[in-house]
Amino acid sequence: MTTHTVTTATSDSAAAGRETTGPSGRHRVAIVGCGFGGLFAAKRLGHAAVDVTVIDRSNHHLFQPLLYQLATGILSEGDIAPPIRDILRHQPNTNVVLGEVVDVDLDAHHITVDTFGLRSQIPYDSLIVATGANHWSHLLGNMLLLWVFGQAIENAFGSRMYVSFYLVCGTAASIAQYLVDPNSTVLNLGASGAVAGVMGGYLAMYPTSTISIFVWPLSLFTGRDLRVPAWLMLGLWFAVQVILGINGLSEVGNMGGVGYWAHIGGFVTGLVLAPLVRPGVRDSLRTA
Ligand SMILES: Cc1cc2nc3c(=O)[nH]c(=O)nc-3n(C[C@H](O)[C@H](O)[C@H](O)COP(=O)(O)OP(=O)(O)OC[C@H]3O[C@@H](n4cnc5c(N)ncnc54)[C@H](O)[C@@H]3O)c2cc1C
Repeated sequence: MTTHTVTTATSDSAAAGRETTGPSGRHRVAIVGCGFGGLFAAKRLGHAAVDVTVIDRSNHHLFQPLLYQLATGILSEGDIAPPIRDILRHQPNTNVVLGEVVDVDLDAHHITVDTFGLRSQIPYDSLIVATGANHWSHLLGNMLLLWVFGQAIENAFGSRMYVSFYLVCGTAASIAQYLVDPNSTVLNLGASGAVAGVMGGYLAMYPTSTISIFVWPLSLFTGRDLRVPAWLMLGLWFAVQVILGINGLSEVGNMGGVGYWAHIGGFVTGLVLAPLVRPGVRDSLRTA
C-alpha cells in the first residue's frame, strides 16, 4: 500500500496569508484516492473535528485481494467494489467527489478535479495523496536487472558481503536523491538505487563481458538476441540516467516518479566500491 501524505500545518497557511478553514470554520482535509490507504485515512478522520473531502476517479472502493474470488465466480462485482459514498455514508463530516485529480497547487492549496470533462477546484488545508502505485514496469525492470547483474556480483562477493554491498549502495542512492532534492515531500521508495549499485559494481568488475538482450520484436523474428559488451549497455544506461536526472533538476522541490539521482548515486557507489571489495576479480566473466 503506498500512501504519500503532504500535510501542511495550519500555522504555515496562516503565515502565508491564506484561509485556513472552510465555511464551517473547520480544518479541511482532502484525500485523493479511496483505495485502502485513502479509505482508512477517511475512516480515521470520521469523528475528527475536520471537514473531509474524498476524491476518487471511480465511484467504488475496489477490494483488490478479492479479485481472485471474483474471477473464479465465488463473489460478484458488488461484493468487492462497494460505492465509496455508501461506505462513508455514516460520516457527516465527509464529502465524496467523483473525478480525476489532474493538478495539485501546493502553493495555493487547491486541487483541480476533472469530472467527465468538467473541471473544479477543491481547496484544502491538509492533503493526503493515496493514489496507489502503478509503476509495475519499473519494478519488473529492476527485478530483471538485478537478476542479470546480481548473480555475478553475489558469486564474486559471497552472499553476506553481497547483501552489505547492496544495502550500502541503496543508502548512498537515497542520500544522493536527498542531496539533490532535500525539500521534496515525495516519499522515496524502492530499491532501484541499490540495483543501480549492483550494475555499477558489474561494470567495474566485468566491463567486457557480453550481455544478451532480447529486442522485441526483432529477436522474435530473427531468433537471435542482440549481444553487446557490458560497458556499452551499462554506459548507455548511466548516460540516460544522467540526462534524465539533469532534466528533472528544474522540478527540484517537487520531484516525483523515478529517482534518477538515486540511480546515479547508487551506480557510482557500486562502481567505486566493487573493486575495493574484490580487487582481484575483473573480467573473469565473459557472458551474462
Ligand atoms: C489481485 C491482487 C491481490 C492482492 N492481494 C493482496 C493481499 O492478499 N494482501 C495485501 O496486503 N495486498 C494485496 N494486494 C495489494 C493491495 O490490494 C494494494 O497494495 C492496495 O490495494 C493498495 O492500496 P492503495 O490505497 O495504496 O492504492 P489503490 O487500492 O490502488 O487505490 C488507489 C485509488 O486512487 C484512485 N486514484 C488514482 N489516481 C487518481 C487520481 N489522479 N485522481 C483520483 N483518484 C485517483 C484510484 O481510482 C484508486 O481508487 C493485492 C493486489 C491485487 C491486484
